[in-house]
Amino acid sequence: MNSAVTIRTFIIFLLTFWVFAPFVNAASNTIDGIRVWPAPENTRIVFDLKATPDFTYFSLNNPQRLVIDFKSTLNLVQLENLAKNDTRIKRIRTSTPKEKGGMRLVLELAENFNLTVFPLAPAGQYGNRLVVDLFDKQRKESIVATKKLNDKRDVVVAVVAGHGGDDPGSIGASGSYEKHITLNIAKKLARLINRQTGLKAVMIRTGDYYVNHDRKVELARKNSADLLVSIHADAFTSSQPSGASVLVQSTRRADSEFTRWISNREKESELLGGAGEVIKHTKDDNLAITLFDMKKEYTMASSYEFAEHVIKQMKKVTKLHKKRPERLSLAVLKSGDIPSVLIETGFISNPQEEKRLNNSAHQQKLAKAIFTAVNHYFESNPPEGSLLASMRLKQHKVARGESLSVVAQRYNVSVGQLKSVNNLTSSVVRIGQTLKIPRTDYN
Ligand SMILES: [Zn+2]
Repeated sequence: MNSAVTIRTFIIFLLTFWVFAPFVNAASNTIDGIRVWPAPENTRIVFDLKATPDFTYFSLNNPQRLVIDFKSTLNLVQLENLAKNDTRIKRIRTSTPKEKGGMRLVLELAENFNLTVFPLAPAGQYGNRLVVDLFDKQRKESIVATKKLNDKRDVVVAVVAGHGGDDPGSIGASGSYEKHITLNIAKKLARLINRQTGLKAVMIRTGDYYVNHDRKVELARKNSADLLVSIHADAFTSSQPSGASVLVQSTRRADSEFTRWISNREKESELLGGAGEVIKHTKDDNLAITLFDMKKEYTMASSYEFAEHVIKQMKKVTKLHKKRPERLSLAVLKSGDIPSVLIETGFISNPQEEKRLNNSAHQQKLAKAIFTAVNHYFESNPPEGSLLASMRLKQHKVARGESLSVVAQRYNVSVGQLKSVNNLTSSVVRIGQTLKIPRTDYN
């Protein structure tokens, strides 16, 4: 390199410094990244900033725009094509700032949205953020299951893939994201459930976006979910821990939830089924509390029972981190009236396990184990009015003096049906023998 070039470079450097330095110094904050996450019902835009954002915002109509003024901030992000995969945002551009050193961003929107704008403090791998959520005014109900009214209904399992969008969850030793693993397992689980007669899966998240906790529960309720299964992968500060665990709601959170419900009972009662009507109309708080308590107890006991089924199946396909369901107070399990479990499928922070969790065959094994648990749980607890309940076989213990034809007559079935359901080669039965009774419309 000759000296002339060196000098020229130095002068350019100085010029650059003189020209831009005052602006850089005047701006105490910078926008270092902008991430756009389209989802079925909303779009989330996340601004990554160097420091806590000092901002104001307002909306404009005709055409629809969201204008954000950042005080003393410099934007370092290329704005073109940022929203090219999103249908709610037409364009993100700058405009004349409100004051010197400030930064005005204009989001040109496709229509009028319900919007929220809020800052987020640094957490995990993230620094300061400003989050904009654009929610559709008319929420698409396409993901809501169509209920068969007069028919026997399917048992509905809400499958929640943990994290998503701007929330990657834990990040593995070699860089894989929990949100991708959870979605893959959730999809496999949903597929297995949907193939089974009498069962139906509702995926609460189907792509790479974030669904907030309240909305998850709301969607599960709208779909009349009988069970809510959250799929996650664990992480720890050291790489040693491995294995799966299953979490259920602890009493503490349920109690605070329940206090809120009692005070809101007019609004919430419809969610409680039959007991709800009583709770809604009674002026007696004690009665309301007793009824709600029963519902809560039932939900928690059901969650625990299902969690035990999951552990029993999971231990066949993976190491267990905890051999019993863990009771924890977590927002994700805050579903009140729907039995809910959170499954940590393994430790993403353990390099070997991270590898397995990314392996499609292993994901399928985990999904299959959870699916088997779902099956076993509903076999012994078929919800009233469901196809599963009507398909369930009754049982009869043969008493002294009872022959096969006596039993057949009692349940309005034929001897042939009894023999075939029970794989009997002769008509001889012994006292104490348990017979399966086929379900008909008359018994
Ligand atoms: Zn998680």
